[in-house]
Amino acid sequence: MPHRPYIVGNWKMNGNRAMLAEARAIDRAAGRYPDVQVALAPPFTLIGALREAVTAMGVGGQDCHAHAKGAHTGDVSAAMLVDSGADFVIVGHSERRKDHGESDGVVQAKADAALANGLGVIVCVGETLDERDAGKAVSIVAGQVDASMPVGEGTSDAVALGKVAVAYEPVWAIGTGRVAAVSDVIEMHAAIRARLIALYGEAGEKVRILYGGSVNAGNAAELLAAQGVGGALVGGASLTADAFLPIIAAAGNGEA
Ligand code: PEP
Repeated sequence: MPHRPYIVGNWKMNGNRAMLAEARAIDRAAGRYPDVQVALAPPFTLIGALREAVTAMGVGGQDCHAHAKGAHTGDVSAAMLVDSGADFVIVGHSERRKDHGESDGVVQAKADAALANGLGVIVCVGETLDERDAGKAVSIVAGQVDASMPVGEGTSDAVALGKVAVAYEPVWAIGTGRVAAVSDVIEMHAAIRARLIALYGEAGEKVRILYGGSVNAGNAAELLAAQGVGGALVGGASLTADAFLPIIAAAGNGEA
């Protein structure tokens, strides 16, 4: 892996204050693997408490609104995430794209807002099973990258600083126990890298490309060793330290 591997847990709509004990255990593990960048994205309600509870790992949001403030009931802005203690945000997760009808343009506006507020950003892309079966996976994902990645003022600096990442998450692999074939992951990550270089020039090499979709203790080592894979975005297996630690260890090429 050319970059420091980035292992990010996405707790989705799971977690309460009692789960901070899991987060502390994950944080202790993160401290043992300084060569791995570890982060958790809990629900909004836990960001502040998590920030107080951990020292070694990053804390992020799972979404932000593109606008700074205003009449958007239930939404949270990038500035509010910063105020709560977040240092990054995930945007464009397929569950957001599906449940909230988020287009590539909306995702891009959110990514721009994140960078404008000093957050790191992870932009999620991925094809559905129908799209893969139709042989369109690479073109669909390339189109999502072209239209969802940040382009606002300050993007070049953020890219150069390694604050921008992409998560390739085949929709059919998320939460299903089905994992993409390593050869398909390698092909897709190479296609994404080519689009990033087209967008950002040579600095596009600095964008880490994570794989996401049913990553667990059993498959992490093989996926993380695949050409072009710069880390993992992990849902279900990030909810407990027991499940998440072996993935961090695999990224650090060590025993849990
Ligand atoms: C995700 O939430 O981004 C994800 C990849 O979930 P899971 O690991 O559970 O498939």
